[in-house]
Amino acid sequence: MFDKILIANRGEIAVRIIKTARRLGVKTVQVYSEADAASLAVEMADESVLIGPPPAAQSYLLADKIIEAAKATGAQAIHPGYGFLSERAEFARTLAAEGIVFIGPNPVAIDAMGDKIASKRFAADAKVSTVPGHVDVILDVKHAIRIAEEVGYPVMIKASAGGGGKGMRIASNRQDVEEGFPAARAEAKASFGDDRIFIEKFITQPRHIEIQVLGDKHGHVVHLNERECSIQRRNQKVIEEAPSPFLDAATRTAMGQQAIALAKAVDYDSAGTVEFIVDGDRNFYFLEMNTRLQVEHPVTELTTGVDLVEQMLRVAAGEKLSLKQADLAPKGSAIESRVYAEDPYRGFLPSIGRLVRYRAPQEGRRGGVTVRNDAGVREGDEISMFYDPMIAKLCTHADTRDAAIDGMAAALDVFLIEGVEHNIPFLSAVMDQPRFREGRLTTGYIAEEFPDGFHGLAPTPWQLDLMTAAACHMHRLQLARRSNGRKLRDEWIVVLDKHKRRVRLEVAADDLHIDLPDEGRRLELALIDWRPGWPIFRGALDGADFALMATPAMEGYRLRHRAASANALVLTPVSAELHERLPPRKLSDTSKLILSPMPGLVVSLAVAPGQAVKAGEIVAVVEAMKMQNIIRAERDGVVKTVGPGAGENVAADEVLVELA
Ligand code: ADP
Ligand code: ADP
Ligand code: MG
Repeated sequence: MFDKILIANRGEIAVRIIKTARRLGVKTVQVYSEADAASLAVEMADESVLIGPPPAAQSYLLADKIIEAAKATGAQAIHPGYGFLSERAEFARTLAAEGIVFIGPNPVAIDAMGDKIASKRFAADAKVSTVPGHVDVILDVKHAIRIAEEVGYPVMIKASAGGGGKGMRIASNRQDVEEGFPAARAEAKASFGDDRIFIEKFITQPRHIEIQVLGDKHGHVVHLNERECSIQRRNQKVIEEAPSPFLDAATRTAMGQQAIALAKAVDYDSAGTVEFIVDGDRNFYFLEMNTRLQVEHPVTELTTGVDLVEQMLRVAAGEKLSLKQADLAPKGSAIESRVYAEDPYRGFLPSIGRLVRYRAPQEGRRGGVTVRNDAGVREGDEISMFYDPMIAKLCTHADTRDAAIDGMAAALDVFLIEGVEHNIPFLSAVMDQPRFREGRLTTGYIAEEFPDGFHGLAPTPWQLDLMTAAACHMHRLQLARRSNGRKLRDEWIVVLDKHKRRVRLEVAADDLHIDLPDEGRRLELALIDWRPGWPIFRGALDGADFALMATPAMEGYRLRHRAASANALVLTPVSAELHERLPPRKLSDTSKLILSPMPGLVVSLAVAPGQAVKAGEIVAVVEAMKMQNIIRAERDGVVKTVGPGAGENVAADEVLVELA
């Protein structure tokens, strides 16, 4: 085993690798950019080396700097994590020449699998079933149309060098190809510097199911079953799980054998993933192989008990695989939720800033559920515009899929993040959906279930009860502070947005009885765990545990339970009546302002004062988190003033354009 390794990555995956290295007694060197100087990974590593300014192209992608750091610190091997240099064969070759071990597969395998056209040829030779299509470069639009018609619509137009869901277009007819082919080619050229495009059949009702493989330098390869990653937004994974609720043992074995055959064909000697697309009849087709540790690897670790990072280190050091295929059957069920810094209520726009509050669910096993949270941040850290907007990967594992989902919903309920917007309400909404529970997944799930985007959900009757009970307790504690033991009034009106109900409170030791006289029911709130100022309210209502988020609002509290939120007020009957007659608060007219939805860099400003614009017209492009966001006018008008120009920074909600 190595004495010391260097980690050429950042964030959660760097922390993940350090944890295993520590357990194995291997020292770690963390390279970092100026943006990450105070990061958790740097704090945890034994040594750290600054390699450059925040942009990845000037730091985490600089092979020379990283190699220099390895030499200066005496690191014998480099783990690249995922993204950045992880799939650059050239980097692996340079390391070999310098006598440093690359903790990943051999460069020939990276080259062979890094290109979608080349890897499909390898797969076909290894008798792996591939998506029907044209496994060669398409030259022009005419050629594209001919091939699309041969393959049969719908087809997928794809960049051979593609990754991260980029450079892909579905085409259902000739016109789609005429438009999609040049667009895919331009995107491929811009994103990957390689405009080779091919066309394959678009598999309808597809599920994304992938096989984890592990090989050593002695010709042994095993597979560690599948992960299903069908819950995707714009071809990027959001929720993953193992095992897939769709596979039977025979299909799992067949897919596993094909994945092993492909890995052996390229002498695969590390952890890797063979991705398949599976149709409604369980026909499966090879998509691509990722020659690195995958983001969603924890669900495999939870269901097999294997530490994949440890295995990568061992095989990189030349050890023989000691795992036997027969011992690797999946145990129980695991789910992973990618917690992103994005605003689900505003089209999932990236949201960056400081984690003013960050408290993750407690890890470990309780009540039959194991919780694991892979994160590279602490409270007070910043989610910066330079890197991936993922905050954490929350995973749960239990004996059954239902229990793992229940555990995930409960863990998300107590995951506190303030300072940046996050997708936890959205993840919670999915956990509560019957279709997700039933495992009826396809890669179109999010688009089908949220056709108009995500706007939160109205509270269910049960959630209204939870919020009523919490609001009553919170109000009672506040009154108790002021009343010096005087007896509590017994009748109140609880207002939850537009819902209103009469309640009578009765305090019994540590519990609260809440009578609902108009409904002829009573709520019993027990095990209350909340004090003024606490953002999480925990308790048990009629015997069922719950947790909701409570933040002080202008009036009362803002309560959120899963995807439902409401403003809560507890009033006396008299003030409730007054409140009813209060005119609604007047909001200032902002409809003439076009604001930047996030902090970033203005790439271009398309309008000038005096210019007329139409609704839908592009007024600016703002870059944040490696993504270019197009800002459009929401109404017709004439430009009165403009804010920051091209090349300047813009803050969230700063005015980009004001219309007259
Ligand atoms: P996974 O398949 O592990 O879920 P993705 O395919 O979404 O992950 O990519 C994982 C990471 O690798 C992301 O940070 C993504 O931005 C990065 N990535 C993927 N493909 C490329 C590529 N061709 N070039 C650069 N980065 C990439
Ligand atoms: P990337 O390198 O960007 O990860 P993939 O080839 O793995 O590209 O495709 C990413 C996603 O796009 C898949 O998970 C799937 O949802 C969808 N997809 C890709 N190819 C097809 C296809 N032929 N038919 C249907 N969906 C596809
Ligand atoms: Mg992929």
